[in-house]
Amino acid sequence: MENSALLTCHCGAVEINLILPNGIEHVERCSCSMCSRKYAVFACVDLKNLEVIKGKNKLKEYTFHTHTSKHWFCSICGIHTHHHARNTPTQYVVNLACLEGIKIENYADAPWFDGREHPKDLINEQLEKEGTSHKS
Ligand SMILES: [Zn+2]
Ligand SMILES: [Zn+2]
Repeated sequence: MENSALLTCHCGAVEINLILPNGIEHVERCSCSMCSRKYAVFACVDLKNLEVIKGKNKLKEYTFHTHTSKHWFCSICGIHTHHHARNTPTQYVVNLACLEGIKIENYADAPWFDGREHPKDLINEQLEKEGTSHKS
């Protein structure tokens, strides 16, 4: 049997249905320039298990740095709902605090993902050092 959860923004314009076959997984915070400003706790879901069921036109997209990962937030209340997992392109990262019925205080000890020293950035830096990248 599959678990599902409803993810909502604060104003209620955006509703997203999540299928969580194994419950809430990969709970963590991220120290990158974006996530650290939100100080939010995240969980991961497979791309196919996330469906925007309301307010798709209210979601605003934001990208930065390498622009590989799209971040979405509600254009009315400003709440971040989800973004592409840059490290795992087959998954979305969702804002755990937006899940209906969640007790976010239960996730105070969520481990940190080192987004500041992102694995994908470290690979690029290594390639540059080895002279295999044409970036200066
Ligand atoms: Zn909203
Ligand atoms: Zn991050």
